[in-house]
Amino acid sequence: MRRMPVLEKAVVHRIMAALRTVPGLVVRKRHGTVMGLAGDPDLYGAYRGAHFEFEVKRPNDPASQVTKLQAERLDAWRRAGAVVGVVRCVEDALVLLGLQPKRVVWICAGCRKYHWPSQDAPARCPLCGSIRFEQEAA
Ligand SMILES: [Mg+2]
Ligand SMILES: [Zn+2]
Repeated sequence: MRRMPVLEKAVVHRIMAALRTVPGLVVRKRHGTVMGLAGDPDLYGAYRGAHFEFEVKRPNDPASQVTKLQAERLDAWRRAGAVVGVVRCVEDALVLLGLQPKRVVWICAGCRKYHWPSQDAPARCPLCGSIRFEQEAA
């Protein structure tokens, strides 16, 4: 099955839409670099007294990584006390803001077809019988 690529712009819109529903949270998108500083994160805002800075990247795309400059900017914000992170989905943003526990998904190390969304790994894969499981990157 061919997976449609998800554009970073779409991820930005999803995250902003989700964060706007959180009471007491303000989120803004940085536009371009003409008036701003190159490499500063895509999204910023505040929640419960904490300033946050999120660099948005595409999900399921290993080529979509922070640049050296973006990493330096995030680190500068972090040292200044901001909550910072690279986010690829709504859940990433919610986890960083403490709004949702990190979701753990186990994948069968035998057949790699069985997925088990739970904090604890299942005892045995119902598909292939393997007892080895690995945590899947959320
Ligand atoms: Mg980005
Ligand atoms: Zn299996």
